[in-house]
Amino acid sequence: MAQLYFYYSAMNAGKSTALLQSSYNYNERGMRTLIFTAEIDNRYAHSKVTSRIGLSADARVFGEETDIGSVITHEHQQAPVHCVLIDECQFLTKAQAEQLCYIVDDIDIPVLCYGLRTDFKGELFSGSHYLLAWADKLVELKTICHCGRKASRVLRYDGQGHVMSDGAQIDIGGNEKYVSVCRKHYSEAMRTVMATQCHS
Ligand SMILES: [Zn+2]
Repeated sequence: MAQLYFYYSAMNAGKSTALLQSSYNYNERGMRTLIFTAEIDNRYAHSKVTSRIGLSADARVFGEETDIGSVITHEHQQAPVHCVLIDECQFLTKAQAEQLCYIVDDIDIPVLCYGLRTDFKGELFSGSHYLLAWADKLVELKTICHCGRKASRVLRYDGQGHVMSDGAQIDIGGNEKYVSVCRKHYSEAMRTVMATQCHS
């Protein structure tokens, strides 16, 4: 029986590398995979998943309106799909998470989702919310804070290097930088921001 997997982590835990390695393992055995990534620039229907260690693979993009279930079903009719891999799965909508459940349960194709659990405010992304609720297997990909503890939070820094405590959940193309930290150092950074705001 196929299963729905959610591989989650903070930033820079090697999610894309893990996704590409899994896809490679299928391909090596002559099996076909479909890779999706979130739409960052809506001019393109195709994109790439790239990892920091230099691997990359072609990917289809999904936006909020993409009927990801129909795309997979259609592809599967053309030629059997053995595994679906979703990068940036935190951006999936509830409807798309439901479509992926259908692909697993009714079409019997395993779906491997890779993404962030929470945003820089410590809140769940929509896709992560439903995948945490519905996935068969939850797998944490670990990365560490500068102090050596497990990093479970993400700090967003603005262009001037200041920690941001507010703003839109998704801000693509800005000068922001993200750093993975442990819960303790996240809380400390947030308290510092709040103190600075009170005094200014
Ligand atoms: Zn720490």
